Amino acid sequence: MEKLLIVGGVAGGASVAARVRRQDEFVEIVMFERGPNVSFSNCALPFHLSGMIEDSDSLVLMDPEQFRKQYNIEARVNTEVMKINREDKSVLVKNLLTGEEYTEKYDRLVLSPGANPILPKSIEGIDGENVFTVRNVVDIKKLQGYLVENDIQDVAVVGAGYIGSEVAENLRLAGRNVSLIEALNQVMNPLDYDMAQILHKEMMDKGINLILSDGVTKITESEVFLASGKSVKAKAVVMSIGVSPETTLAREAGIEIGRTGAIKVDPNYKTNDENIYAVGDAIEVFSAVTHKPCRLALAGPAQKQARAAADHMYNITHENKGIIGSSVVQVFEMNAASTGLNEKMAKAEGYSYDFVYVIPGDKVGLMPDSNPMHFKLLFEVPTGRILGAQAVGKGTVDKRVDVIATLITMGGTLEDLKDLELTYAPLFGTAKDVVNFAALVGLNILYKKFEQVPVTKVRELVEEKACIIDVREKHEFENGHLINAVNIPLSELRDRLDEVPKDKPVYLHCRSSQRSYNAVMALQNRGWDNVFNISGSYLGICLYEYYTDVVTGREKIVTKYNFN
Ligand SMILES: Cc1cc2nc3c(=O)[nH]c(=O)nc-3n(C[C@H](O)[C@H](O)[C@H](O)COP(=O)(O)OP(=O)(O)OC[C@H]3O[C@@H](n4cnc5c(N)ncnc54)[C@H](O)[C@@H]3O)c2cc1C
Repeated sequence: MEKLLIVGGVAGGASVAARVRRQDEFVEIVMFERGPNVSFSNCALPFHLSGMIEDSDSLVLMDPEQFRKQYNIEARVNTEVMKINREDKSVLVKNLLTGEEYTEKYDRLVLSPGANPILPKSIEGIDGENVFTVRNVVDIKKLQGYLVENDIQDVAVVGAGYIGSEVAENLRLAGRNVSLIEALNQVMNPLDYDMAQILHKEMMDKGINLILSDGVTKITESEVFLASGKSVKAKAVVMSIGVSPETTLAREAGIEIGRTGAIKVDPNYKTNDENIYAVGDAIEVFSAVTHKPCRLALAGPAQKQARAAADHMYNITHENKGIIGSSVVQVFEMNAASTGLNEKMAKAEGYSYDFVYVIPGDKVGLMPDSNPMHFKLLFEVPTGRILGAQAVGKGTVDKRVDVIATLITMGGTLEDLKDLELTYAPLFGTAKDVVNFAALVGLNILYKKFEQVPVTKVRELVEEKACIIDVREKHEFENGHLINAVNIPLSELRDRLDEVPKDKPVYLHCRSSQRSYNAVMALQNRGWDNVFNISGSYLGICLYEYYTDVVTGREKIVTKYNFN
């Protein structure tokens, strides 16, 4: 190869360039970037809004001069590739500062143009000067400049995915009044509704005006109007309702687009043109779990695809295993991570699945900073193959979800996870780590050692006056309980067996389901066949119910919320 051209100079583009240079000292590499910066940290952009990253210039990791000196790569910034001419293997390029247009020939071309924030034209006022998006360093400087110069306090963030949530948090940490508006009934769609409730509470506790199940219809200079008829005060609006792959250049050149609307590539990231590769947010990937095409806008996969594409040009083999979608985010004091399928996806894909929701400590309880970790593990029935996991808590959720991501990639099952030998010392975890623990509970469910009901069903049980037994100690019960639960502490259960009915379903819970599991097993071993453990128990129920209770003012099913 004599000349490689690359469209896009950030995560995917810069990674292709660097990897190709390591394979080939003599190929000419030119990387075109429409914006003024190459190689910046998109992922760190929101942290400038709180001042955690004080200097916005530090978001730029390498400049064109460094690319030239260190790698002999020519990075042409403020330069847009306007057209691909596949017949004569050239691109039409425009210098956005001078307006000059010219043609550049290639032997190979790599497309890594990323994805654009979605800005629906149907929203009145979407073109206003107070409406912003966050994609690059220019965007974040513009937004922060506008907020500071105009001393803006009221900001609306529209869309509560990862970017919207991070932007909202960082604006709030800077002391601003933030409304976070989401059309779905939850934030962070990779999480299931029950897990997202924990984040809803956290956002609300930290002063975010969280508005769910509502869409924006109109934006003015000082207000945002919603489909429900409500409005919120906002002198600046950040739109973060999702991204769409940048495919115009490819589409116009006759490069095949997949059914998800992103650029179609083969396992080596080659398009339908022998000489053109594509990587990153703009391409269609395939799910290693469902084996279906999908889209994914994450930095890790973009960089790995870039390396694989570069390697393929030099006949270095690469096994494309597909993606599973692993991500993590911090929401104030809570961390949330997920990988693989969640329940919504498993249902939509028609999987035969079950799940466990456990709340073990993330460290030995005696240790400082030991906190509950909410952990949900999905597995296939009857194989026990692990399908996905979600973790929310103050501790290292990423470590736990990364273990599951590894197992999913390797086709692991609950049996594999149960005995997985992981590091342990009291300051780091527990001897039976959160993930081992989840596998053990999962195996009990899989082999029907006991049955469970999820926290999502508890309101229904309370309303139909089902028999619910709370096996926590008396003082715990008195500090808040389900309104019609009966308190039979585990320590008294064996002396009060005559109080446990045999002729109707009995639902047991404690604080985190561990004691109630022991109670369920004791009863089963003594002949009860009508007992169910409430997974998530009192802690899970309080977290699940709290946000909706407060926002809608509906009748509480607990006498007092208890989050400890
Ligand atoms: C605010 C924010 C936070 C994020 N946080 C995370 C995170 O925590 N974890 C994570 O995994 N991912 C995160 N991401 C996503 C991650 O940044 C992207 O998945 C990744 O950057 C995709 O790489 P890419 O090369 O496909 O696109 P990009 O990195 O977006 O680069 C594409 C570049 O191509 C340029 N371009 C497009 N068309 C042309 C053209 N015709 N000519 C010249 N240049 C062109 C664009 O200007 C753009 O700079 C975040 C993204 C944002 C915006």
